[in-house]
Amino acid sequence: MNAPTPRDLWHGRANDLLGRGIDGRLLIDGQRYHAVDGRCFDCVSPLDGKVIARVARGQAADIDLAVASARAAFADGRWSARSPGARKKVLLAFAERIRAARDELALLETLDMGKPISASLSADVPGTARCIQWYAEAVDKVYGEIAPTGGDSLALVSREPVGVVAAIVPWNYPLLMTAWKLGPALAAGNSVVLKPSERSPLSALRLAELALEAGLPPGVLNVVPGFGGEAGEALALHMDVDAVGFTGSTRTGRLMLEYAGRSNLKRVYNELGGKSANVVFADFDDLDRAAATAVGSMFYNQGESCNAPSRLLVQESIADDFIERLAALAPGYAPGDPLDPGTRMGALVDERHTAVVMDYIRSGLQQGARCVAGGEQVLQASGGQFVAPTVFDAVDNSMRIAREEIFGPVLSVIRFSNEQQALQIANDSSYGLHAAVWTRNLDRAVRMSRALRAGTVHINEYDEDDITVPFGGVKQSGNGRDKSLHALDKYCELKTTWMRIDPA
Ligand code: NAD
Repeated sequence: MNAPTPRDLWHGRANDLLGRGIDGRLLIDGQRYHAVDGRCFDCVSPLDGKVIARVARGQAADIDLAVASARAAFADGRWSARSPGARKKVLLAFAERIRAARDELALLETLDMGKPISASLSADVPGTARCIQWYAEAVDKVYGEIAPTGGDSLALVSREPVGVVAAIVPWNYPLLMTAWKLGPALAAGNSVVLKPSERSPLSALRLAELALEAGLPPGVLNVVPGFGGEAGEALALHMDVDAVGFTGSTRTGRLMLEYAGRSNLKRVYNELGGKSANVVFADFDDLDRAAATAVGSMFYNQGESCNAPSRLLVQESIADDFIERLAALAPGYAPGDPLDPGTRMGALVDERHTAVVMDYIRSGLQQGARCVAGGEQVLQASGGQFVAPTVFDAVDNSMRIAREEIFGPVLSVIRFSNEQQALQIANDSSYGLHAAVWTRNLDRAVRMSRALRAGTVHINEYDEDDITVPFGGVKQSGNGRDKSLHALDKYCELKTTWMRIDPA
């Protein structure tokens, strides 16, 4: 008999996990419960179309219980009143639990939303642990202020937790997007009600159990899975929620602002979609690296990344050569079994999303773009959701595939003649998340990075990323910043305390 391959081993681990059964109940006040009305929904794996768990379908009644639990925890100070150093200890233990549960969390992530197991293991789980650890280590190093008022008064400016935070997150990086909210919100002393996406609820529930095991008091982190228009809406409209940390589509981000307006004017931080421009000038001398990065960053996570460089702007004089390179590199990302550690691109999140991506591909063809790689669904016999890495040449910035976020493995290439035109096209978007410039001309690099309307601009790279730097967009890509110390501010109130000093 042959020794099991790495792929066999991961399939074996997946079967063991599924064989034990996945607990899809919600988590409130440290306990697992069915939804109040007992309803559930099927969690379907995009790897093969099979149901892998039945998950509680939270409604307004469940949200009421979760918010009440979070409020009670906040009010009695079981977490909010602990010293930063004490919170740090628990959160460091939480990070260690995440690391220890690496294989299980990675499997849940891959089975639930389709990303390659290699990415879950090397990026998503360690990134989640690092994020929690980073905020744990940061929180006892942040000082308050004494304002320079002088005279017979003393003004202290201190940070306080805002209270009950709603974290509403998407399905493309379920663990990481959750950690980007939990890290700063919990470190600052808030209580949280987390609503994971209905398309990827499993890892969030396990994560919350690990937090409890690490010593986070019951009620400080509650998780209510369910649908956006049900649990999500009830949470964002709730009168006893003080802030919403939202990551998701621009469409839902608009609703978040409406919900706040219709309820208690809670703070809303929106981290939304993108259609990021990656601009390659002819003077850049390492086109191999530029092309490899353009393709690698685009097809990472199946193109389901908010900051994917999905509009590639290339200078006319090198365009034919560059597009040939892209077309040659794209098949290297052909989708494969996500449980095979050799797979670079996995499955799209579900059948509905595959239909959306295929519709965009058809619209590109109908509007006159030229497909030079991919363009079709593949591996259909598996029952899973796989689309070939797709590259369109001859895209005009007015086409749907240039204007709308596809959120799948589709790269739109637009040609430009000079710097002014490149800048005009790059900024001609309702989004403003990331952008990149490839040039050896220092003046041009600085001119472009100043003029590009984006939250992050990359120069001669696209992959740099770290918990120490803020992440977020401008225009309709949102208004918040995740990561870095700036994210702590989102979950803190600034309290001013005036004191009168009487003369002796
Ligand atoms: P989505 O807006 O459909 O859903 C996001 C979350 O909002 C989910 O939990 C969903 O259940 C909930 N929701 C949906 N409708 C709701 C409603 N009416 N009321 C309340 N809650 C509701 O987005 P998605 O498809 O899950 O995620 C993909 C989007 O997320 C993309 O646009 C992507 O660019 C964006 N994203 C942005 C960032 C960032 O940092 N800027 C990071 C990751 C993903």
